[in-house]
Amino acid sequence: MRYKKKHNNYDFEIGKTYEGIIYSKGWIMIKQQLYRMNCFEILQSDVDQVKKLVTDDPKNNVEMVNNAVGVDANGNVFLRGVYEDKDLIEYCNEICREKCYKGSTEKYSDPLCLECDCPIANLYIVATGMAQLRETLKVYENEQNKDK
Ligand SMILES: [Zn+2]
Repeated sequence: MRYKKKHNNYDFEIGKTYEGIIYSKGWIMIKQQLYRMNCFEILQSDVDQVKKLVTDDPKNNVEMVNNAVGVDANGNVFLRGVYEDKDLIEYCNEICREKCYKGSTEKYSDPLCLECDCPIANLYIVATGMAQLRETLKVYENEQNKDK
């Protein structure tokens, strides 16, 4: 990234490039320090170095959160557990049977609570959407990193 706009306490030289990462909306990180993104020009080489987010083997809490759901080999959404993954629909239905559909033992291909607008229905919708985004991002990231 190229320093382009002075900020009172930043010790950079206008026009020089520095190695850093795009940290979050509006902020970049250079050597473990955060700086305002609007003081820098983001270069193509910075974009090429965006850290890969998708992993099947999360090593820390951030990676765990970014990879908390996924799609298994059978096309089913799973929730990642510390010891084992859980099928999302089975997980939702276990709770649905305790909260909303007491006593139901039937197996369904959708969560029971999809009809009832409770927190479990919301969890199901958010997790399914995130799994879909992760799978799409995985394809994109693998394509980006093919030659590296
Ligand atoms: Zn419910």
